[in-house]
Amino acid sequence: MSLVVQKYGGASVSDILCIENVAENIVARVGTGDSIVAVVSAMAGETDRLMNLAQQVMNPPDRRELDVIISSGEQVSSGLLCMKIKSLGRDAVSFQGHQVRITTDNSFAGAKIRTIDDSRIREALGAGKVVVVAGFQGVDDEGNVTTLGRGGSDLTAVAIASVLRADGCELFKDVEGIFSADPSVCGNAKKLDTICYEEMLEMASAGSKVLQARAVELASKFSIPLHVRPMGAPDREGTKVMEESRMDSMEEAIIS
Ligand code: ASP
Ligand code: MG
Repeated sequence: MSLVVQKYGGASVSDILCIENVAENIVARVGTGDSIVAVVSAMAGETDRLMNLAQQVMNPPDRRELDVIISSGEQVSSGLLCMKIKSLGRDAVSFQGHQVRITTDNSFAGAKIRTIDDSRIREALGAGKVVVVAGFQGVDDEGNVTTLGRGGSDLTAVAIASVLRADGCELFKDVEGIFSADPSVCGNAKKLDTICYEEMLEMASAGSKVLQARAVELASKFSIPLHVRPMGAPDREGTKVMEESRMDSMEEAIIS
């Protein structure tokens, strides 16, 4: 019985069929006895669509109101996923960033997380519910909605995994895992089984979009092992991101 934070990216929730797959994935996992907190992104393309709407009204857009607009994509996907889980017979509850008090500073569009109050999440898990948290968003001291920067749902997932001291943080993506180089550019790029935080951070800073750089930084700070997994392929292993010292001891264990 483990407590696992799972993050589902935009491609994993891009339409109702995909959301059904995610719900089935979660319900199957809960059936093994694990407790699941699922962090969701907006449906693929939705954040761009909302940005574009805002820019048609005001350019550059008002920063506070832009966060009100672009945070709404995750609200929709979290509600849809909860409904689907319930329709499969498992109880579930969604929380927006402000409802679990993900407090941030007031730098709209790139806010930094300060604190998370895990009490409502723990209460819901204790009542046997699947918890679905809208990624990418928080609330500042004055009650304004903030967002965490593009790709910020990864950061939400890692931050929640750290406050809950979760046993694992799994990030479901529309890729096989982390590659040694961009596979669309470099034909002989290899999928890695493991990678250390430092190398992952370098790749994220150099433009790899698989994981948000700030999320990797936070995972490294609190030693949270991350597991990037291909959506819809439970038998394929993806890539684990961890401390270099743990990678070494894993290799030694294999050799010995
Ligand atoms: N929906 C946001 C974005 O597209 C956050 C995320 O997907 O992680 O950047
Ligand atoms: Mg997105």
